[in-house]
Amino acid sequence: MFKRGLIGLVTLLLWFAHNSVIVGAATFSDVSDTYRAKEEIEYLVSKGIISGFSDGSFRPNQGVNRAETAVMIGKALKLNGIKRNTNFSDVSSSSFASGYIQSAVEEGIITGYGDGTFRPGKTVTRSEMSILLARAFMLTKTSDTINFNDVYPSSAAYTSINKITTAGISTGYANGTFRPSTITNRADFSVFLARSLNSEFRVDNNKRVIAEEIVNVNGLNVRTGPGTSYASKGKVNLGYRVSVYKYTGTWALINYKGLEGYVHQDYINPPIADMSKKIIVIDAGHGGTDSGAVGNGLLEKNINLDTTLRLEKHLKAAGVKVVTTRKTDVFIELPNRVKIAKDNKGEMFISIHVNSGGGHGTETYYYGSAGAPGTSHIQKSKKLSELIQKRMVSMLGTTNRGVKEGNFHVLRENGMTSTLVELGFIDNSSDARKLGSAAWREKASQAIYLGILDFYKLY
Ligand SMILES: [Zn+2]
Repeated sequence: MFKRGLIGLVTLLLWFAHNSVIVGAATFSDVSDTYRAKEEIEYLVSKGIISGFSDGSFRPNQGVNRAETAVMIGKALKLNGIKRNTNFSDVSSSSFASGYIQSAVEEGIITGYGDGTFRPGKTVTRSEMSILLARAFMLTKTSDTINFNDVYPSSAAYTSINKITTAGISTGYANGTFRPSTITNRADFSVFLARSLNSEFRVDNNKRVIAEEIVNVNGLNVRTGPGTSYASKGKVNLGYRVSVYKYTGTWALINYKGLEGYVHQDYINPPIADMSKKIIVIDAGHGGTDSGAVGNGLLEKNINLDTTLRLEKHLKAAGVKVVTTRKTDVFIELPNRVKIAKDNKGEMFISIHVNSGGGHGTETYYYGSAGAPGTSHIQKSKKLSELIQKRMVSMLGTTNRGVKEGNFHVLRENGMTSTLVELGFIDNSSDARKLGSAAWREKASQAIYLGILDFYKLY
């Protein structure tokens, strides 16, 4: 504990020391206080290595070219920047960059082309930048745990990209790519160069994001260590997308908006691939003049709509495009519900209902008997129904009435993966107490949401 505290103190002192340099540095109209590269940009500005434009902007997304790169690296390394003759036909001695270009060439950091040109205006890719920085800062260490999906051993920059990542100068992207062919913009260059110059800016490789996951429960404790005996630092909720630094046993070290700590892996799921391309239709049964089932002072239409809106929230948080057949207490004919689903190109249809008639418990329906049994959307509908039913039964404390075939209009006619849930019986006093509780309906919406996630793990 003592050691940890001491390191924290040293870090804090260094932070003050480092920030004191920045005080009074220029601010730019297009670099907000929360901008990801703000500190690195201001650090380089304070050192006179980079500057903004006369209109007060920094243009963080503008690509950097070879001349600008040579100047900034030259200033960072305090090379001789005095304008002079160069080896290149296209860099005259009067060019703003001639001195730094010539020095960088003499230092072996940058080279020209075989035709005797330097091509000063040519933009620099992320892989070219890696080569320049690895040479300029004489990086030597490599690590065999660093592998990017889009960087191959045959690439000229392969070792340089490994070196700058090993040094904590680059991290790559959360999806495991480096994007070597992407042009380096002024913000990224500032981050790379600040980290090269000052280790305070470098990224701890143990905190390199290796995955993104979605929290599948509300109130998940983020703990100081990998076990329930460690204290909770805070909580994350259902649908939150967290960055994972590492997996250790059954735990994961995560970061959610600055909250860092350990969560149990049972409560996070990998995001569904291409979740943003899914279009899911949620159909709150009945509405308006059609109350649906009635009992114990409750109207089915209201329970269906409330659960629908809760489910919509969870799906949207996961990035799904959601279409609802109704968002208010209005009457909609069954064929119009199908039309809404088809017109919006839905690929999944979830109809939410409440039962009556003297039973109790939860059941889920799919359409599968007549028509075209065995076709893929019917198999998928059955699977989806099973997965949602399983989640509901485990979370809702109701009797399991099972998954059933049902010849309902909305299931039969829409031709997409479809299910209809009957949450419980409104005329059963025990079920009605649950149906009437907002907390229980929230759980019901979570159970349906998790069933949908389970489905997309399979399809
Ligand atoms: Zn109904």
